[in-house]
Amino acid sequence: MQQYISQLNEAQQQPVLQKDGPMIIIAGAGSGKTRVLTIRIAYLMHQGVDAFNILSLTFTNKAAREMKKRISDIVGSNEAKNLWMGTFHSVFARILRSEADKLGYPSNFSIYDSQDSLRLIGSIIKEMQLDRDIYKPKQILGRISSYKNSLITVKAYFNNPELQEQDAMSKKPRMGEIYQAYVERCFKAGAMDFDDLLLKTNELLNVFPDVLAKYQNRFRYILVDEYQDTNHSQYLIVRALSDKFQNICVVGDDAQSIYAFRGANINNILNFQKDYAGVQTYRLEQNYRSTKNIVEAANSIIDKNKTKLDKIVWTANDDGPKIKIHRSLTDGEEGRFVAGEIFEKKMQNQMANGNFAILYRTNAQSRAMEDALRKRDIPYRIYGGLSFYQRKEIKDVLSYLRLVINPKDEEALIRVINYPARGIGDTTLEKLTIAANHYKRSIFEVMQNIDKIDLKLNAGTRGRISDFVTMIRSFQVIDQNQDAFYLAEHVTKKTGLIQEMRKDGTPEGIAKLENIEELLNGIKDFIEGQREIDGARGALSEFMEDVALATDLDKDTGDDDRVALMTIHLAKGLEFPYVFVVGMEEDLFPSAMSMSTRSELEEERRLFYVALTRAEHQAYLTYAQSRYRWGKLTDSEPSRFIEEISGQFLEYLTPNEGSYRYKPMMDIDVFGDVDKSKLRLNKPQTGTPPKKYGEDPESSTNVRRLKPVSSNGSSSVSSSNLPDSKLNVGNMVMHERFGRGEVLNIEGVGADKKAEIKFDVGGIKKLLLRFARLDVL
Ligand code: ATP
Ligand code: MG
Repeated sequence: MQQYISQLNEAQQQPVLQKDGPMIIIAGAGSGKTRVLTIRIAYLMHQGVDAFNILSLTFTNKAAREMKKRISDIVGSNEAKNLWMGTFHSVFARILRSEADKLGYPSNFSIYDSQDSLRLIGSIIKEMQLDRDIYKPKQILGRISSYKNSLITVKAYFNNPELQEQDAMSKKPRMGEIYQAYVERCFKAGAMDFDDLLLKTNELLNVFPDVLAKYQNRFRYILVDEYQDTNHSQYLIVRALSDKFQNICVVGDDAQSIYAFRGANINNILNFQKDYAGVQTYRLEQNYRSTKNIVEAANSIIDKNKTKLDKIVWTANDDGPKIKIHRSLTDGEEGRFVAGEIFEKKMQNQMANGNFAILYRTNAQSRAMEDALRKRDIPYRIYGGLSFYQRKEIKDVLSYLRLVINPKDEEALIRVINYPARGIGDTTLEKLTIAANHYKRSIFEVMQNIDKIDLKLNAGTRGRISDFVTMIRSFQVIDQNQDAFYLAEHVTKKTGLIQEMRKDGTPEGIAKLENIEELLNGIKDFIEGQREIDGARGALSEFMEDVALATDLDKDTGDDDRVALMTIHLAKGLEFPYVFVVGMEEDLFPSAMSMSTRSELEEERRLFYVALTRAEHQAYLTYAQSRYRWGKLTDSEPSRFIEEISGQFLEYLTPNEGSYRYKPMMDIDVFGDVDKSKLRLNKPQTGTPPKKYGEDPESSTNVRRLKPVSSNGSSSVSSSNLPDSKLNVGNMVMHERFGRGEVLNIEGVGADKKAEIKFDVGGIKKLLLRFARLDVL
């Protein structure tokens, strides 16, 4: 254990060594907050605290898994097994399941994702005959979500004239009724939405003192990462649970608070000292993640915010390359530049795709990037957007599985009652729904009793309804005895889903079939993992819980090597050697919707701070002078955030114009980001420094020259910089990574010129001379 503690600096050690009492660690990006939390948990266990008594809340389940893995490595997996770690949603969903009866919910309640919620709201709006242009389902769901996260229940809403007035003012006087109907329908379907998971946990802890006491005694030590982004509902849960022992350790960075739009409350961090007595405050100042240029540039940005805690962030890391700024004419060209840079970096340094991340403000921006990456054959993965589990064919299978667990689940039922088509049409469904509302029962219960209720359905329809019920019942029997994989495979065949897709021979149909196969593989993987962990049966309910709460990040097993594309919001807490922040334009970033007040603009600036501080080695900021937005070609100006960075940290790749800062060519390294110090290490110790192959004699003189820009937007170094005539077959060369080698063959001309080199270690390799970093010996 000592060995792990000694790997921390002194400031990091202090919060690890303080065992009890409330503490807050406030520190900038990359200063080791998450690492401190991890080691702290291991050390608590080392001091005899039972894993069972520790609760750790993270931003993603993936982060929790990684943390658990690291702790397992330190204390042993048997010990770490009982740690409670995960997102607020996943941890409290688990608790709610075991206490559900107290709140009148079945323990197998469904979790509605936002698609389910939106569909339900849509149908409520339709039933109430309201105007969908005024009552926009997305907006309504947003309102409901913010009520729930502020603990405003339906009852509280109707007791609050101010809120009602507010909604009336925004032309939605019937907002309260929609809220009420939505809550009732969810309850009747035995379903909670994401916000319910927090709201109901609060209800549970407030209304049942014995339940509160039970979990207070259980979670003697509570740790929260990314505390700056907790919302009010989450804050109250943490407060309640930690109230007895007050062993609460939260870490966060006010400069990275980026979820105010979802109700996150930065005051949770600012007021922590007031909430608990005798709070120890720790500050970490040394950044281990990024180069000096990145750390200092990020500091110069966040300095512009008025609302902030004073913090110092410094690093002992190298200066590193400057932040590269690139302008292009269109978003398409921007995409080509980014893909081109990644391609070149990969060639130069034989780097894996996973070293690169492309971050953007809005999901829509991914398209241009995807097109360009595909053209270059660079594998990528988009996080966020429509996740795997939300694809139609996957949701269809999952809906059947949800019904197996909870037949009351109406959103699931409505999805599959007539898919694949089995002759239970809309009119029948409507009759069933009306009866269900009338008897205050679920649609499935009505279906079970279809012969006892007179719905004026013909015998054929009644028969088909009974068949459906029988089919779901038969799945339930299998679920009692078999694992989730067996059941899921059976369901895809028995329901006719697979046959339906096979009929459709189009490429899309085949892709869907493959997706279902991937889902089945995923289930298999999951149950095998479960069995390894604690001998669990691998039951369907365990898998479904995992799926319901999976975010896209969670799915990332890291075993396929891809460039990561995601919004900046999703990138929080992550790190990558190379980061491209694209779409650095006014009205896009900062977003046009977040510029009307200073506090909105400050949140955008914090978002930019988060984006930049994800980079370990090199950051790029790119912008386009025009792009398609909402179907129209719009002109754009570079983002003010570029101008806000102190010029000394920037390098402009494109020729300057207008107010743009001028940068002479000599600052640009024609070798990209070759780390000179590393190069030197490989040089043989001779009296005179060896001639660097490919060195441009002009670049060491004070000639001012702008970097050539090729028309496709790529900033690649023109091959004329590289006098490649000097390399001959038989030459001995030194390569930064591969070491010493002999040139066996040279082929191609100009920029395509390649050399075949036999290295002492690593064998024969073919290198593009334009990029290969070779010293001729
Ligand atoms: P963020 O604010 O972005 O979430 P963070 O403060 O949580 O960042 P970490 O992710 O814990 O920072 O650490 C950043 C990087 O620095 C990680 O790669 C981590 O392993 C490394 N690191 C942290 N502390 C040390 C240390 N004392 N010695 C060496 N590396 C360290
Ligand atoms: Mg972190």
